Amino acid sequence: MKVFMNGKIVKKEDAKISVFDHGLLYGDGVFEGIRAYNCLVFKLKEHIDRLFESAHTIMLSVPYSKKYIMDATIRTLQANRLRNAYIRLLVTRGEGDLGLDIRKCQGNAKLIIITDKIALYPRRLYEQGLKIITVPTIRNLPEALNPQIKSLNYLNNILAKIEAINAGYEEAIMLDSLGYVAECTGDNIFIVKNKKLYTPPQCMGTLRGITRDTILEIARQKDISTNEHVITRHEMYNSDECFLTGTAAEIVPVVNIDGRKIGRGKPGPVTKMLLEEFRKVTKKDGVKYKL
Ligand SMILES: *Cc1c(COP(=O)(O)O)cnc(C)c1O
Repeated sequence: MKVFMNGKIVKKEDAKISVFDHGLLYGDGVFEGIRAYNCLVFKLKEHIDRLFESAHTIMLSVPYSKKYIMDATIRTLQANRLRNAYIRLLVTRGEGDLGLDIRKCQGNAKLIIITDKIALYPRRLYEQGLKIITVPTIRNLPEALNPQIKSLNYLNNILAKIEAINAGYEEAIMLDSLGYVAECTGDNIFIVKNKKLYTPPQCMGTLRGITRDTILEIARQKDISTNEHVITRHEMYNSDECFLTGTAAEIVPVVNIDGRKIGRGKPGPVTKMLLEEFRKVTKKDGVKYKL
């Protein structure tokens, strides 16, 4: 496996960072997860735009242009001869001293691109649907650490994931500070009620997922009403269908939440239709590359 690092494509063994990198010391940096389907990088521009927005907010100046990063992503895929891949792109603050002062890291930001294959959940879960639970750890407050920043500091989500795993579940629902549904540990959440689609708004601790936006777009094209407003646990329990969206997970049906059966307890027709349409979109849209 080869990794893009600091302008070069190197062997995985040689892709190393300093122990003084603030990405390691403080989770100070930003990232994106992107997918390539059959030599098409899906929503590459949208991901790079979001990466730059995350970086802008934390005052991290990305040492390369958007165009350069897009080309570098493709070069990394080609170097690994990957037709289908999950791409992890990160920018760390770089080497500094042991303090927090970002001025000490000036000019040291590092761009790393890793391309690999991952399946987030076992295949059978996509067919049978996932059982998930609400966990005690709430999503970061937007006033404290805005979830729109896709930051390398993922402990908020990791704590929630630990709670789900300790309880014997694969995935967790995180609420916001008011007790409304925010999102899962790395995925957005949708419910279907009376053939209408609902998902929490991005203002309250929900990351504006690119897969989420794609699903909203597909639904509108299919004349399904889409609603971005707050969702309570009660509404979730009494929904007809529920599913999660994210670049890594794609679209995962949910059939049970906190011990309550959702709909008929199996993946529903709207979820299946959206998944099928999503697959079609990933087959034709994207930035093309050759191997
Ligand atoms: C990345 C991420 C998502 C999903 O966003 P996509 O753009 O669809 O991949 C959802 N929630 C969190 C916390 C994330 O980090």
